[in-house]
Amino acid sequence: MRPYPELCQQTITELLAELASGQVTSAEITQAYLDSIAAQNGAINAYLEVFAASARKEAAASDERRRAGKTLSAMDGIPVAVKDNMLVEGEKCTCASKMLADFIAPYNATAVEKLRDAGMVLLGKLNMDEFAMGSSNENSAFGVCRNPWSLNRVPGGSSGGAAAAVAAGMAPVALGSDTGGSIRQPASFCGVVGVKPAYGTVSRYGLVAFASSLDQIGPLTKTAEDAALVMSVIAGHDRRDATSDATLSTDFVPQALPTLEGLTIGLPRECFGDGLSMPVYRAVQAAAEQLRLMGANVVEVSIPSLPYALSAYYVLSSAEASSNLARFDGVRYGYRVKEYADLDELYRKSREEGFGLEVKRRIMLGTFALSSGYQDQYYLKAQQARELLRYEFGLALETCDALLTPVAPTYAYKLGEKTADPMEMYMGDLYTVPANLTGLPNVSIPCGHAEEGGERLPVGMSLTGARDSLKKLLSIAAAYEGQAKPNVGLRPYEHLRKGGETA
Ligand code: GLN
Repeated sequence: MRPYPELCQQTITELLAELASGQVTSAEITQAYLDSIAAQNGAINAYLEVFAASARKEAAASDERRRAGKTLSAMDGIPVAVKDNMLVEGEKCTCASKMLADFIAPYNATAVEKLRDAGMVLLGKLNMDEFAMGSSNENSAFGVCRNPWSLNRVPGGSSGGAAAAVAAGMAPVALGSDTGGSIRQPASFCGVVGVKPAYGTVSRYGLVAFASSLDQIGPLTKTAEDAALVMSVIAGHDRRDATSDATLSTDFVPQALPTLEGLTIGLPRECFGDGLSMPVYRAVQAAAEQLRLMGANVVEVSIPSLPYALSAYYVLSSAEASSNLARFDGVRYGYRVKEYADLDELYRKSREEGFGLEVKRRIMLGTFALSSGYQDQYYLKAQQARELLRYEFGLALETCDALLTPVAPTYAYKLGEKTADPMEMYMGDLYTVPANLTGLPNVSIPCGHAEEGGERLPVGMSLTGARDSLKKLLSIAAAYEGQAKPNVGLRPYEHLRKGGETA
C-alpha cells in the first residue's frame, strides 16, 4: 500500500480513476487519510473529532459495493470531513463553543445525508471559529487551528479547520459554511479551492444558523473540478429548507474551455484600492493578465456601493445572529450553570459562561441594531445597502461573465496579530461579504504566493457570477488552473515532513 503522503496528494478526480480501475480501494484511501490525520493533527488541530472506526467500516462497505457493481454514486468511497456546525446524527456538534460542548446531533443535516447517500466516507468534524463568527479560527473554544504552510500563522476562518485539513492532505474535501467569506477566505489563506454556492443551492437544514439570509454550505478541495464533483452531491432542492431554490441548475462539472475567447471578466475598481496588500494586488493582477492571455476580454467595472458592503454585512449578520442564538439559553439547548437563584439568572449565567467573547460581541451588536429607535438607522439602512449592491452587481453581470477580485486584502497573518482589534479583523472580509449579501455564487482559487521572512504563503483570487453561473465559474477556474498551475510547488505537507514538526 502506498504511504499517506502520496495518496493524500491525489485529487478526487485521480482517486476516482484509480478506484474505477481497481488500483486502489476506498479502505486504502481512507486509511491513508487516517494516517495523515494521526501524523499531523497534533500540530495543526484541524479536526475536533475523528471517526476512525466508522470511517474504516464505511470504506469497507463501499469496497464491497464496488466489487458487487452496486456503487451508490460516482463519489462512492471518497472520504470527506465536515465543519463542526453541521449535524451528523449521533455525533457531537459543538460549533467550537463551550455552549454546545456536549450536544449530540439528533439527525443528519441534509448535506451530510447526501454525502452518506452518495456512499462517501465521513472522516470527522472540523475546527472553526465559535458559531462561525471570525476570520482566523482563533475564536474556537477548543484551541486555535494552524496554517499548514506556516504553523505560526492562522488558517483563516471561520472554516479554518476545513481549509487546513484539505491543504495538509488530511481530507480530499471538506464541507465548510460561508456567511461572509468563511469558506473562501480560509481557502485563500491555505492555498485550496473554496466554493460559496448561490444562496439556495445547498440546503441549510441541519446547519447551525449564524445569519440565515446569508449562510450557505460549500466544498473546499484541491481543484475546481473536485469542487464541482462534490457540489453535484450536496446541491439540490430540499423541502425542509424554505429558502432552498428548485430552479437552480445542479450540473456543475466544468466544461473544458480551450480558450476564454468570448468571455468578459470585470475587475471592480473599488476592490483594488486602499487596504490591499502589495503581494495580493500583484498576484491577482497577474491572474487577470493570464486570463487575458487565454483569450478573455478583461475590463474595468465599477460597483459604487461596495464601500458600504462591510458595514451592511456586520449589521445584518449580527442582527440575525442575535435572534438565531437566542435558543441557546441553558434550557432548550446547551450549557447550563449548576447554581442559579431563579430562571432569569439561569439564562444569564449560562449564556455568560457558555459563549465566548466574539459571540457576545455579535449578540450585543445585533440586539442594538434591532432595538426600537435604532432599527431604522441601522437594520433598515443596511437592508437598503444590500438592495443597492444586488442591483449594481446585477448590472455589472449583464456585461461581464464573471467579476474578478482578491479574496482577502492580505495573505495568512500570524496567530494573535489581529485578535486585539476586532475592527481590523472585520476589515479582512471586505471582498467576500458582497457575494453573501447578493446571494451570488463565488469561487476562490489559488493564484500565487507571497514571500515573507523566507516563508511562502498562498494567495487566492475570487470569481463572482450571475445567480445560476457556478458551472461557468468553475469552468473558468479549471481553465485557469490548467494554464497557471497555481498548485505546483511545495505542498504544505511536504514542508511539514521536512520540518519534522508533526506530532
Ligand atoms: N469573517 C466573517 C465573520 O466573522 C464571516 C464569517 C462566516 O462567513 N461565517 O462574520
